[in-house]
Amino acid sequence: MLDVPAIRRDFPILDQTVYGKPLVYLDSAATTQVPECVIARVAEQYRTGNGNVHRAAHRMASLATDALEEARKRVAAFVNAPDEDCIVFTRGATEALNTVAGGLRESIGPGNAVVATQLEHHSNFVPWQQLCRERGADFLCARIDGAGDIDLNDLARVLERRPKVVAVTACSNVTGAATPIKRIARMAHDAGALLVVDGAQAMRHGVVDVQDMECDFFAFSGHKMCAGTGIGALYGAREALERLAPCEFGGEMVDKVTLAETTYSALPLRLEAGTPNYMGAVALRAAMDYLEQLGRTEIAAYEDELVRHAVDSLARLDGVRILGSPKRRCGCVSFVAEGAHPFDLCALVDKMGVALRSGHNCAQPAMEAFGVAGAARLSPAFYNTHEEIDAAVACIDRALRMLRAGRETR
Ligand code: PMP
Repeated sequence: MLDVPAIRRDFPILDQTVYGKPLVYLDSAATTQVPECVIARVAEQYRTGNGNVHRAAHRMASLATDALEEARKRVAAFVNAPDEDCIVFTRGATEALNTVAGGLRESIGPGNAVVATQLEHHSNFVPWQQLCRERGADFLCARIDGAGDIDLNDLARVLERRPKVVAVTACSNVTGAATPIKRIARMAHDAGALLVVDGAQAMRHGVVDVQDMECDFFAFSGHKMCAGTGIGALYGAREALERLAPCEFGGEMVDKVTLAETTYSALPLRLEAGTPNYMGAVALRAAMDYLEQLGRTEIAAYEDELVRHAVDSLARLDGVRILGSPKRRCGCVSFVAEGAHPFDLCALVDKMGVALRSGHNCAQPAMEAFGVAGAARLSPAFYNTHEEIDAAVACIDRALRMLRAGRETR
């Protein structure tokens, strides 16, 4: 069992008032807060060992390089990659997914197909759509069913085209649906495709094991797992990574540069042009240590409880419709309410201290499937309490009454 009061002391940002009300932060699917130990580890690195990695023969540079490479090992162990050379540091999931799409551009052309799903965040949808457009390939989309789960029959239908790539999220940032990645991996591989998994929302929801998932690529962002922004990573199975052509060129990624030609470094540096955000990697390593110490399965179980609590309470409110009822929902719940625009609702509850997200949440195809342009989203993390869920739902109820009363008097 998690000791939530003790955990909350690790996150001083939570202990404050906004507009005179206690902050209830329920937007962790967008960004999680950063614990003191991560902030301290970054501060310590700046105080004791800051330099530019890989480039110089002095002590500060080697301390920074060690920090980056230790972090790479940590990430590999955290996702159970076979070795650290399978880990490419990126700015986040978006850059990781673009690295794959861009890296495969020469292998995709007219007559080929790429499959994504209707559940995808734009960052695992638009790069593929764009790639197909530029390369004259067909972009196909597997639909979701009424519950908000990927329709595996529809996936099987599009796989008949034997696509080069299947791009799928491990966990939706709209419905929270956890997708059956292993099953999808088998389907994709049977069809001869590479499987690219968007793991941005999955990293806090249990143990991620990229080998067990049998994925070819797995992308994630540090800021959704307590590490702060600007850092993320791409895991790639070795043969899959070898297939990626670099999209960015410059320092770090080259072996030899002459007037005639350039040869590239070995993996993973070949895909990391320029000075990396090694300090972000330090934060990511510290965040992974922290999450592991708390217990990844314990975190997931508690967050599942909070989400279930939120779903049950929201469902009892008048005129509230919850988007989807996936087989397994983790991390978030999105909803719309009669007589209230999601933006107005979230703006009103913000004034009551409650942080929710509103809009299409960068997943317009999924919103379209539910017949809405946008929704409000509540996404707790392990530092939230059941009392906060109750407080937030009471504020939502109050805000809905205010908005509806406002409409009636207009
Ligand atoms: N995929 C999913 C499912 C997400 O929720 C997000 C972030 N909202 C991303 C990808 C993109 O992550 P980032 O903006 O950190 O690159």
